[in-house]
Amino acid sequence: MSNILLKNKPLNVLTWFKTGGSCKYFFQPENKEMLKKFLLDKQDNLDIFPLGAGSNILIRDKGYNGIIVHFAKLNKITLENNGIIRAQAGAMDVEVARFARNHSLSGLEFLVGIPGSIGGGIKMNSGAFGSEFKNVLIDVKAINKDGVIKTFPKNELNLSYRTNKLDSNWFFLDGRFKTKPGQKNNIQKKMKEIISLRKNSQPTGVKTGGSTFMNNENFKAWELIDKSGCRGTRLGGAKISEKHCNFIINFNKANSSEIEALGELVRERVFKKTGVKLNWEIKILGEK
Ligand SMILES: Cc1cc2nc3c(=O)[nH]c(=O)nc-3n(C[C@H](O)[C@H](O)[C@H](O)COP(=O)(O)OP(=O)(O)OC[C@H]3O[C@@H](n4cnc5c(N)ncnc54)[C@H](O)[C@@H]3O)c2cc1C
Repeated sequence: MSNILLKNKPLNVLTWFKTGGSCKYFFQPENKEMLKKFLLDKQDNLDIFPLGAGSNILIRDKGYNGIIVHFAKLNKITLENNGIIRAQAGAMDVEVARFARNHSLSGLEFLVGIPGSIGGGIKMNSGAFGSEFKNVLIDVKAINKDGVIKTFPKNELNLSYRTNKLDSNWFFLDGRFKTKPGQKNNIQKKMKEIISLRKNSQPTGVKTGGSTFMNNENFKAWELIDKSGCRGTRLGGAKISEKHCNFIINFNKANSSEIEALGELVRERVFKKTGVKLNWEIKILGEK
């Protein structure tokens, strides 16, 4: 049990920013029965936060006084009838894209460009290069804090741009995705194009949380950030990427406070320059 339930586990290693404090308890179930039992047996009233690949999250330096449920080991991907792929929450998006390609199934190529897990992607309605989870998801299986398991058809999640309106007391266990038959070579070609587009437009191989602020129908966040003169701005060990100015990079041992303060500085400058209050896309967790 010792590797499954831990106390005071440092979370920095589990996030892309590589910053942040510890959580009070850390639970990493190996299957959904184990998670259900944990939720049913749990004695205290601590908050629970589901963590995926940590690619869209900033954990504050004082840590999180609650329970982190880490989905990494619930990572099975299976093929059902009619080209439907079921992927557990902890499966990485890139693995699901490769699984679909290996079965000559098209439609999930965009997942190769998102460095998160299926659970995080469902929560964020992640998208890239012309598609998003909303376009390919059929339904999701989820568990709540009382151990109840339920399947939700996609429309009950009310997915929209980087938003999922299902009550956050539900944690995703798996999702089913539709695909269509395709030619393996063409699918592979599309995936390669996406990887190369990503390399050209985003910083790669760096400690970052991806897009920091949300776009909306009227503006792209990066354009407002650029217009406000924030490209390359530094605060401590954190900076706004020169390559894609909606990315914050931990370039020199930044802590989470510096990253958050830099984000707030950008919001302030953008507001002064354009009158727009940017909304964080990155989820911020923990004690101030
Ligand atoms: C270099 C880089 C590039 C990126 N490019 C893109 C991009 O092109 N498009 C895009 O959309 N995003 C992009 N992102 C952001 C990020 O990869 C996505 O939002 C991703 O889907 C988050 O998944 P995750 O597993 O890392 O989630 P985490 O960061 O671990 O968590 C994000 C949110 O999802 C919730 N969550 C995670 N698992 C579950 C679960 N099982 N049940 C319920 N909630 C859960 C968490 O509680 C949290 O609220 C990028 C990030 C980086 C670092």
